[in-house]
Amino acid sequence: MRVIAGVATDIGKVRENNEDSYLVSAPLFAVADGMGGHKGGEVASHLALDTIESLVRGGEGDLADQVKRANSAVFERGSADRSVRGMGTTLTAALMEPDAVRLVHVGDSRAYLLRAGALRQLTQDHTLVGKMVSSGEITKAEAEVHPHRSVLTRALGIEPEVEVDETTVALLAGDRLLLCSDGLTAMVTEDQIQAIVEAAPDAQDAANRLVRAANRAGGIDNITVVVLDLAEGEGVSLPGARPVRRRRAVSARKLLVRSVVALTVAGALLAGFRFYLDRQWYVGASNGQVAVYQGIPATFAGWHFSHVVEETDLRAGEVEVLTLYGSLQEGITAGSREDAAAIVAQMRMDLAAAGGRTTDAAS
Ligand code: MN
Repeated sequence: MRVIAGVATDIGKVRENNEDSYLVSAPLFAVADGMGGHKGGEVASHLALDTIESLVRGGEGDLADQVKRANSAVFERGSADRSVRGMGTTLTAALMEPDAVRLVHVGDSRAYLLRAGALRQLTQDHTLVGKMVSSGEITKAEAEVHPHRSVLTRALGIEPEVEVDETTVALLAGDRLLLCSDGLTAMVTEDQIQAIVEAAPDAQDAANRLVRAANRAGGIDNITVVVLDLAEGEGVSLPGARPVRRRRAVSARKLLVRSVVALTVAGALLAGFRFYLDRQWYVGASNGQVAVYQGIPATFAGWHFSHVVEETDLRAGEVEVLTLYGSLQEGITAGSREDAAAIVAQMRMDLAAAGGRTTDAAS
């Protein structure tokens, strides 16, 4: 079976971070919805997917074992690192087999199958309200608006051990598989999801449209959607032309803002340095003559931070030998151009007093 993948993730309209992660690394596809203050959620969802991806690549154990090891990785990091204590993540992963998909699942992200005009949920939510629905306490419609609908009964990384749901579903050409975080299903009803997915011409378009719909409905949570189209043939088409695996939580707009801020700061520093240099003066030597410089007598990596403003008729060598000013190589700093001129005038008088010859006297 040929797999055509589409993926979209968005921070939503309310949250400050995108704690969702996704994996598009054929034959493995997954979404993870992290939780746990500050950076915890982001760390948990990335760590879980990174761990599973490398274990699947290494071919160690079956998918459920790999998920359990990801649980340990997140749990251990959460126990060891105070800054991410108590973090956890959901995980819904699909491992594509020749004519089937192996699904593993923990939490309230979901997998759906759209086949022959019907949308079927392939996973069960590990939530308090999910349990209440199964036991007949409340209806599915009541669960959707229940105040505690997002309370999880199971997540990755919260306990040292985790129970993992596993199932294998046979696939047919024309099937459309959907993996999504609850940021989609909390905002968009299943009827709407079905209508959107059916109308979308391809997997990437379906993913984009679902994220847009969730945002239009309020976007109260991060939204992540992986869409997998099954077709006759073999191979995998990944989203776009670029080898997308995981999008960083930073949006393009934030990156742009950060770049502009960085450039502005760099520009301000340069302008400040230039402003400083323009107000520094010293008397030094240039072409063997005493000269007035603007800037500071320093070079760095081939850059000179000064330039000659005026070359005088005093010979630098005579000044160094016959006056008390000493070496002109290091420069004699002055508070202003006028001060620099006063230093030159003093040198001229000192030279005359010492009986030295100036170029004036020589000419
Ligand atoms: Mn969520």
